[in-house]
Amino acid sequence: MTTTLIIGGGTGGVVAANVLRRALGKKHKIILLDRKENYYYAGSYPLLIIGRRKPGQIIRNLNKLSQKGIEFIRAEVKSVNPQEFKVQTESGTIDYDYLILSPGAEHHLETVPGFREGAYNVYDLESNISLNKRLKTFHRGKIVLFISSLPFTCPTAPYEIVFLLDDYFRNRGLREKIELLMVTPEPYPNPVAHPLVGESIRKMMQQRQIGLYSGAKVLDLREGNLRLDQGINIKADLFLGIPSHWGPSFLAGSGLLDADGWVEVSPQTLQTRNKLIYAIGDATALRIPVSRVLAPKAGVFAHFQAEVVARNLASIIQGKKERFRYTGKGVCIYYTGSGQARYLSVNYYKKTMPMIKMTKPLKIASWAKKTIERDFLKRWF
Ligand SMILES: Cc1cc2nc3c(=O)[nH]c(=O)nc-3n(C[C@H](O)[C@H](O)[C@H](O)COP(=O)(O)OP(=O)(O)OC[C@H]3O[C@@H](n4cnc5c(N)ncnc54)[C@H](O)[C@@H]3O)c2cc1C
Repeated sequence: MTTTLIIGGGTGGVVAANVLRRALGKKHKIILLDRKENYYYAGSYPLLIIGRRKPGQIIRNLNKLSQKGIEFIRAEVKSVNPQEFKVQTESGTIDYDYLILSPGAEHHLETVPGFREGAYNVYDLESNISLNKRLKTFHRGKIVLFISSLPFTCPTAPYEIVFLLDDYFRNRGLREKIELLMVTPEPYPNPVAHPLVGESIRKMMQQRQIGLYSGAKVLDLREGNLRLDQGINIKADLFLGIPSHWGPSFLAGSGLLDADGWVEVSPQTLQTRNKLIYAIGDATALRIPVSRVLAPKAGVFAHFQAEVVARNLASIIQGKKERFRYTGKGVCIYYTGSGQARYLSVNYYKKTMPMIKMTKPLKIASWAKKTIERDFLKRWF
């Protein structure tokens, strides 16, 4: 009998636990650990902001997984000791035979002083619930969405948010009275992709009168004023922000992190420097082969990585050879308003240049995105 411990009940952790459970006999134990009791489907936060989702539609209780034979423990992980096969939580120590790390990225609002008091964090559920209430009474003024630093999860999400805000205010007949501006450290939208992809997004923003300030370094936010370097100040009535993303600090001293604080893994098997420990999802230090920049972090990749790790681990535990390899391929879809979405097919391990192809806005892509959401929440809970 073995115990596989999974840290993180987010996208990667939930998929890994389910796939492993189906592949392994009941005598093998699977424990899922998370500090929160609920899973949040973050891919639908943009819809929550504009009132097209209610929190209950995108939240699932992790205790439900116990019906499938996955033990859920709610606890904060403090450290991992690979030498002794132990994970230290706030409420005690847990031993493992195999460990899967899927803790996502840490969000650090404090890197932009004034963020916490002066802006809505669009990567946080509670903050988005409050933002939705605020938007209902917002009839006129300037809205700025800023990105604190690179990298950040789901490179298309901020663009999706501004397109949906544009749509939301158009539907309310208020668009003429609202100014929308996005402030990003990226040189152009989606720089991992070919510049033509970024150009196409920029053009669509222009057509919809959404301003774009790129190459920006945000310094602080005080009294309705966002200060950038080079003496630039941006005043607005409402600020939305994406916080700085860091690797998991509870792994400091574990020997598993790279110099930038992300978990180092094999690009194909997701095995860490320790052969009993795997890492998946946003916490990993996967890189684009040609440029060595961090690969895009998104739920679709966390999902596919989880499938690979869980299937291989099930083989190893059953004394068979591991067969599955992660390919860096996936599909991202982002809503663009008017019932449409753009579809990106991604192959970021391509040797010459990461390949990202994007369609024009399509109704079928919007339908596909809704189907993915519905299937994910049904299949894994
Ligand atoms: C606004 C928004 C829109 C998005 N849209 C899309 C989209 O359209 N398509 C797409 O593919 N992706 C999208 N994503 C990205 C996607 O949600 C993430 O990439 C994905 O959830 C990452 O999965 P993960 O398992 O690595 O981490 P997460 O899902 O973040 O889960 C990590 C879990 O670990 C837990 N945890 C962390 N540290 C500890 C600790 N010390 N102790 C205990 N528990 C801990 C956390 O509580 C959390 O539940 C979006 C994200 C956002 C924010």
